Amino acid sequence: MRQLVAKIPSQHRALILAVSVCLAIILLLPSEQAAASKSTHSNSLEIGKRYSLAIPQTQQLVNESDTDEAIEPDVIDDLAAEDNLQWSSLQVQRGDVLSSLFKKANVSQQTMLAILALGDTTKTLTRLFPGETLEFGLNEQGELTELRYAINKLKTLRISRDPQGQFMAQELEKTVEHRQQFASAEIKSSFWSAGIEAGLSEAQIMNLAGIFGWDIDFGLDLRAGDSFSVLYQTNYVDGDFVGYGTIIAAQFQNQGQVIQAVRHTDGNYYKPDGASMRQAFLRAPVSFQYVSSNFNPRRLHPVLGKVRAHNGVDYVAPVGTPIMAAGDGKVTHSGYNNLNGNYVFIKHANNIVTKYLHLSRRNVKVGDRVKQSETIGRLGATGRVTGAHLHYEFLLNGVHRNPRTVKLPQANPLQGEERDLFVANAAPVLAELQTKERVLLAKIAP
Ligand SMILES: [Zn+2]
Repeated sequence: MRQLVAKIPSQHRALILAVSVCLAIILLLPSEQAAASKSTHSNSLEIGKRYSLAIPQTQQLVNESDTDEAIEPDVIDDLAAEDNLQWSSLQVQRGDVLSSLFKKANVSQQTMLAILALGDTTKTLTRLFPGETLEFGLNEQGELTELRYAINKLKTLRISRDPQGQFMAQELEKTVEHRQQFASAEIKSSFWSAGIEAGLSEAQIMNLAGIFGWDIDFGLDLRAGDSFSVLYQTNYVDGDFVGYGTIIAAQFQNQGQVIQAVRHTDGNYYKPDGASMRQAFLRAPVSFQYVSSNFNPRRLHPVLGKVRAHNGVDYVAPVGTPIMAAGDGKVTHSGYNNLNGNYVFIKHANNIVTKYLHLSRRNVKVGDRVKQSETIGRLGATGRVTGAHLHYEFLLNGVHRNPRTVKLPQANPLQGEERDLFVANAAPVLAELQTKERVLLAKIAP
């Protein structure tokens, strides 16, 4: 992981995080022909890069005309007439406003106002970005009869004038085709580089670490020779790749232990028997991407400079690295002393206490309730230390336990019929994952 940290300057890491978030949003693109009313989706889509796209002659569009029960001949004539529209395509330039585009297209401001008066659907026209395209379809009288705007790769806003001269707006949506991909890698230097080598995106690597983050401490537990395989979706529109989809199933081999995860219809991941991947405690309170000294199980204690058993786990990472609450709980201590520096203790259910020492900053105070993964402070070098690190302790019934290996009760397993259904669906998916892995191994073998 040092390699990764070294390769990526810190200011870029923030950028990568931001990009990952954007990617994650893109990954959440509606998987099917989502209803046009899904405004939350269209909001998230705006964050992603916008593209102009060819006018979609989608099934939907055709069907809408076809399924009109009684199509009078004159209506058909009208539809046919629409095909004879004079189309002009205007690209939004920096500084353009909607009215200037309408002017360029020889369409009156009155018409523009009539379209904007249609309401929320057409509001998107007031937030155009340079490079986007508006397509104006004018009839023989020079009247605007149809306006098209590609909101993104999947969605097009179509405004059309009905035979009575009234405008109506609709969102046309393209179908996303899901294809299944397989990736597999053996970890040699770091999980990150193995993921990149296997062809995974950075967001997928983070997702994968997220799925297994309750079982594996990705910062400290990975060893050369560990391996993983992933079945995931890729999304295509009109045969063009538009993004990575969800991870369908994954398998991680960590120090001889095999852990499998399969995505359920509820969007969560479960083990083959229906046990939840999500547990009451994260294996590590620090994201692996910050942690150094990956493949050195006999790490030196950062203070004493020699290997020694001590009551906690030390994570060496840059000052300022976010420290997460390992589980839901209540802050019992948040203070400073010469030994611990800035420290936070959290009391959890089942008589479990977690402790976080040497912080540069504390974000919580005594009495606060915290959620798992919530940032409770920042890694630092306060107290009796020679270098920046987090000292993390996990106590069960007052006794120190190794947080990376302690057995914990499973949280929220699938039950009853839902479990049966999951297990039945998961079996062939896992079989496929393993078959693909075997095929790959056979190819690699001499
Ligand atoms: Zn320590």
